[in-house]
Amino acid sequence: MQTLIHVLYMLASVLFIFGLKRMSKIKTSAQGNGMAALAMLIAIAATLMDLVSQGKIEWPFIIAGIVVGSAIGAWYALTVQMTQMPQMVGLFNGFGGLSSFLVGFSFFWENMIAHHGGETTAVALGADQAVTIALSIFVGGITFSGSLVAYAKLEGSILGKKVPDQPVLLPGRHVLNVALFLGAILVGWALAFLVQGSFVHFLTILVLSVIALAMGITLVIAIGGADMPVVISLLNSYSGIAASMTGFVIQNNLLIISGALVGSAGLILTNIMCKAMNRSLANVIFGGFGAVAATGGGKEGYTNVKSTGPEELAMILDAATKVIFVPGYGLAVAQAQHACRELGDMLEKKGVEVSYAIHPVAGRMPGHMNVLLAEANVPYDKLFEMDQINAEFKTTDVAIILGANDVVNPAALHDKNSPIYGMPILNVHEARTVVVVKRSLGAGFAGIRNELFDADNSLMFFSDAKKALTDVIEELKAV
Ligand code: NDP
Repeated sequence: MQTLIHVLYMLASVLFIFGLKRMSKIKTSAQGNGMAALAMLIAIAATLMDLVSQGKIEWPFIIAGIVVGSAIGAWYALTVQMTQMPQMVGLFNGFGGLSSFLVGFSFFWENMIAHHGGETTAVALGADQAVTIALSIFVGGITFSGSLVAYAKLEGSILGKKVPDQPVLLPGRHVLNVALFLGAILVGWALAFLVQGSFVHFLTILVLSVIALAMGITLVIAIGGADMPVVISLLNSYSGIAASMTGFVIQNNLLIISGALVGSAGLILTNIMCKAMNRSLANVIFGGFGAVAATGGGKEGYTNVKSTGPEELAMILDAATKVIFVPGYGLAVAQAQHACRELGDMLEKKGVEVSYAIHPVAGRMPGHMNVLLAEANVPYDKLFEMDQINAEFKTTDVAIILGANDVVNPAALHDKNSPIYGMPILNVHEARTVVVVKRSLGAGFAGIRNELFDADNSLMFFSDAKKALTDVIEELKAV
């Protein structure tokens, strides 16, 4: 039995690694996801076989857990809106962290207390075990409470209570966080080396849990809603690290491997997002970005704005041969992906070359635009990453910006005083005509003026993105 379980663990590890590799390309990502899901199924089955064979758990509990968990998961996955994906991922990370927290806690409880003929005594743990338990509880606790705050910020509420999107900057927050961190190190050290085998030992683990849960909250409430995807990716990485630590605690190699994979993949993704925004991770976590009210919104500072509408845009498109759609956060808000595809199809039927330009941080989570456009069945080979498509704008007749703002702001290229200076952007301003579809001259996430709106080749189409596209489709039908 043990040999079979080890073979299954090995198989699951290999499938996890190949699954992750395949997820790095759009075309093979669905297959990669399937492989990783199969690996998880094998991992769960092998672990349960192991536990049952050791008499640690009984099948009725397992089956009850599977039925209840699967029912909740299936209901959630079927009812969640595409725009709610980031918070769903956030919640799942949180549960991953909670699992590590609980496993570390219960392992500690089970192994620290010995029962001798009705008497309960405290038992010392190995320092290595105590350190991994402490890390499992600390990282798992931060991941859990931090993810709940991230979920609440993205959802705008939790348990019926409104949660502000802006960073909440507690007075002396940096000092508080450093104090909590040092406190955690001190308590972790006491837990591993000082108070072994006494009931104070149990007290230390409680204090460590409280510190971890508090730190998750104090760190994440100071971050603005629009930075939450970076936070979620980081917390995802933490949940992997916590799982890996738990693997050491319960001596499960597969958990160590899969946790390390999640931990490193999350860190790489976090790094990619920070680079695409030209911000450091420290700036995202400690910078309080977004706390100051937007200064660039409204009509102030614009002198050359020219408006357009469905009729004029339909005429411009009728004469075009090459069109690029540039989706942004507003497309997700308006749920305009289906209308966008319909207009794209219509233009292609007229012989127009149509493509879709995707900025790495367009929207509010990595791959946000890819997911939305895939949902509307836009073919993968029509979606182009920023580096692939930037050279194309020079020869493009019309670039249609759908609810994107910061990711097309040319200030990022030359204005050293701009908060987004250095962020790579889509060079839409190089197209012959730029049509910006949004509801107002309001700012995007960075809260700054967009000089594109004033450019000579720009036309502003003030409307909800879905309505604008539907109106243009109607006009084009009439042309
Ligand atoms: P922005 O947040 O810059 O702009 C979105 C625009 O959409 C707004 O200006 C808004 O203007 C418009 N909008 C909102 N609702 C609608 C609607 N119903 N119809 C039409 N337009 C609408 O979005 P971008 O996608 O350009 O940039 C993403 C920003 O988020 C970047 O600053 C990026 O750094 C940040 N970010 C992204 C992450 C990611 O992983 N993708 C992670 C963290 C941050 P108006 O109100 O006038 O309509």
